[in-house]
Amino acid sequence: MTNVTHWIAGERLAGERRIDVYNPATGEAIRQVAQGSADTVEQAVAGARAALPAWREMPPARRAQVMFRFKMLLERDAEQICQLVAEEHGKVLEDAMGELKRGIENVEYACGVPELLKGEYSHNAGPGIDTWSNHQPLGIVAGITPFNFPAMVPLWMYPMAIACGNAFILKPSEQVPSAATKMAELLDEAGLPKGIFSVVHGDRETVEALIDAPDVKALSFVGSTPVARAIYQRGAANGKRVQALGGAKNHAIVLPDADLDNAANTLVGAAFGSAGERCMAISVAVCVGDHTADALVDKVADQARHLKIGPGTEKGLDMGALVNAAHRDRVAGYIARGEQAGADLVVDGRAHARVEASPGYFLGATLFDRVTPEMSIYRDEIFGPVLCVVRVETFEDAIELINGHQYGNGSCLFTRDGEAARRFADRIEVGMVGINVPLPVPVAFHSFGGWKESLFGDLHAYGPDAVRFYTRRKSVSQRWPQRNEWASAEFSFPSG
Ligand code: NAD
Repeated sequence: MTNVTHWIAGERLAGERRIDVYNPATGEAIRQVAQGSADTVEQAVAGARAALPAWREMPPARRAQVMFRFKMLLERDAEQICQLVAEEHGKVLEDAMGELKRGIENVEYACGVPELLKGEYSHNAGPGIDTWSNHQPLGIVAGITPFNFPAMVPLWMYPMAIACGNAFILKPSEQVPSAATKMAELLDEAGLPKGIFSVVHGDRETVEALIDAPDVKALSFVGSTPVARAIYQRGAANGKRVQALGGAKNHAIVLPDADLDNAANTLVGAAFGSAGERCMAISVAVCVGDHTADALVDKVADQARHLKIGPGTEKGLDMGALVNAAHRDRVAGYIARGEQAGADLVVDGRAHARVEASPGYFLGATLFDRVTPEMSIYRDEIFGPVLCVVRVETFEDAIELINGHQYGNGSCLFTRDGEAARRFADRIEVGMVGINVPLPVPVAFHSFGGWKESLFGDLHAYGPDAVRFYTRRKSVSQRWPQRNEWASAEFSFPSG
C-alpha cells in the first residue's frame, strides 16, 4: 500500500498518524493517508509565512502566469486525476471528468486576476484630492473540503485565493485525499513558490488546529451543515473571516404544462448522478396535480430500474458505489424508515442485483412516491440515490413547501410558462435557481452559494465573491498641494 503524504512547502511529509483510504467499489483499503496534528499545521503556516512577502509583491499578471501553466498541467494529467477520484470516491470516470472540467474553469477565472484586482479611482474626489480603493490579500487562508468533489471543490477555493496574493492551506477530505496531493505537485511544476500552497491531510483535530492558528486569517469550508455551523462559530469567535457552505435538500417543481419526458430524463441524472452524493442533487420532485405525478413517477421509475451500476473506474456506467459502508447503511436506513412511515416505495435500491453481488458499497436508485413533509426522508439530507416525490395541488403550495424547508441551496422548476418561471425565480428562498435546468451550478464567473442552513457567512464561493472573500479593501486618499498651499488646521469634518 502506498501512503498519501502531506505536501508542505514543496516537500512530502509522511506524518506519524495514518488512516486507511478505501476503494468503495471493492471495500478494500488501498492506501493510507497521513493525519496532521497542530504541529503539522504549524509547519504549513511557517512555510506560508516565509513565502508570502515575495508572493504578495509579485505583480498579479505574473501570478496569473502560474495559473495558466497550472491549467495546462491539469488538462495534461486529467485522466490520472480522474482515476484517483473514481477509485477513492466511487463516482464514474465521466462524472469525475465533468467535475474536473468545472474545477478547471475556476483556474481559468483566476487567470484573469489582474483585471479582477483592478480597483476604483476617483480623480478630484475632493479639491485636489484623488481617491482610489484596491484589494489587498489577507495573508494565509485555509480551505476544508468534503469527500464528494475531491477535485472541483478545492479548485473553487485555492486558485483565486493564491492568485489574489495569499498563501493557502488545504485540508481535503480524509476519504478522498489523493487528488489534492497530486494537484499540489502540479502547482509546484507550474512554478508556484514553495510554501504558497500546502496540503495538510487530517480530520477534526487538524481542522481545529487550522481554525485556532492565529496566522490563518480566513476559512473556506464546504461540507455538512452541523460541521459548517461549528466551524463558522469557532472561526468567528477567533476573529476570522469564514464562509461555510453546508448541506442541502434540493427540490424540483414539476408543473402540469412541463415537457415531462425532458423533466424525467434530467431528473434521473440530477437525482442519481454521482449516487446522489452532490450538494446540488435533486432529492425531491414536487409534482403539481396527480396527473403530473402519475406520469412523472412512471417515467422516472422506468429509468431508475435500469441504471448501469458498477465500479466507477469502469467506463460507460451511470452510477458507482457510495463513499463508505457506514454511509451506504445510513442511506439504506432512510429507505427502511420511509417505507415504515408510509411512503410508496416505487423502486427499492436495496434490491438492485449489484448490492448482493459485490463487496463494494453499492445501492441502486430508489424512488419514493406520496412522501409527506413530516417524514424523515423528506426533512433530512440523505445524500444518496433516493428521490422523493411529493404531491401538491397548486404551484403556490409547492413554493410554500420549499420555502418552509431548512435548507436553501438550489431549486428548479420545469414548465413552459414564462410567467410562472419569473414568479418562481423571484419568490423561491434558495441561493441558486434553475428554470428547466436541474443542476443550476453557476459557471466560474458567477458565484456559488445557498441560503438558510446551506450557508453560514455572507459571501458565496468562487467567482466575483472569491475576490471579495480573499482580499480586504483599502481606500487611499491623496493630495499633493503646492508648497504655499498647505492648509491651516480645520476642526469641522471635511466635506467636498
Ligand atoms: P463533512 O462535514 O463530514 O466533512 C467535510 C470536511 O470537514 C472534511 O474535510 C472533514 O474531514 C471535516 N470534518 C468532518 N467532521 C468535522 C468536525 N467535527 N470538525 C471539523 N472538521 C470536520 O462532509 P462530507 O461528508 O465530507 O461531505 C458531504 C456533505 O457536504 C453533504 O452534507 C453535502 O451537502 C455537503 N456539501 C455541500 C456543498 C455546498 O456547496 N453547499 C458542496 C459539496 C458538499
